[in-house]
Amino acid sequence: MSYYPASIQNVIKHIAKLPGIGEKTAERLALHLLRGSRQEAEQLAHSILNLKDKVRLCSRCFALSDAEVCGLCSDPARDPAFLCVVEQPADMVAVEKSGAFRGMYHILCGTLSPMNGVGPEDIRIRELLERVAKDRVTEVVLATGTNVEGEATASYIAQILAKYPIKVSRIASGVPMGGDLKYVDQVTLKRALETRHAV
Ligand SMILES: [Zn+2]
Repeated sequence: MSYYPASIQNVIKHIAKLPGIGEKTAERLALHLLRGSRQEAEQLAHSILNLKDKVRLCSRCFALSDAEVCGLCSDPARDPAFLCVVEQPADMVAVEKSGAFRGMYHILCGTLSPMNGVGPEDIRIRELLERVAKDRVTEVVLATGTNVEGEATASYIAQILAKYPIKVSRIASGVPMGGDLKYVDQVTLKRALETRHAV
């Protein structure tokens, strides 16, 4: 790396900070950018800045969005009475890819983890309850992960939702124990949603 001029070393240094990218790959990518056109480099730089400037959380479901309300929440074809509760935006993407769900999402932005000091007020549970009360929700499917935190979060929410006149279900055991939704294959996830059980 030190054989390169500072301007190349600088790019290599920044690319190498990205997850899963080693020094060798960073070097290859930097040289690739150097060989490419100025326009390509500008587009990449601009798209990264645009990402930082534009992306925010949807005010309804807390998915990543370019607008105040995300595309899915503003889609009239989706059923607002059916909510799927997930931990993170990537989990919502995983469920969407499975194609098994036509309702709307609620992203908690975390899981309960008393060991790490994460309590109910630190994740979007209050907002979930507000939606349930306001949006005439009839069913909530709890699609948090099947690890300890995910299970604890699901049972905590199920307990609170038991006071509401709605159906509450949990994704089925097709998702392996300790499973993180975004790593589960689409077929398994589709089956887990279809065979969800009441809690
Ligand atoms: Zn949304």
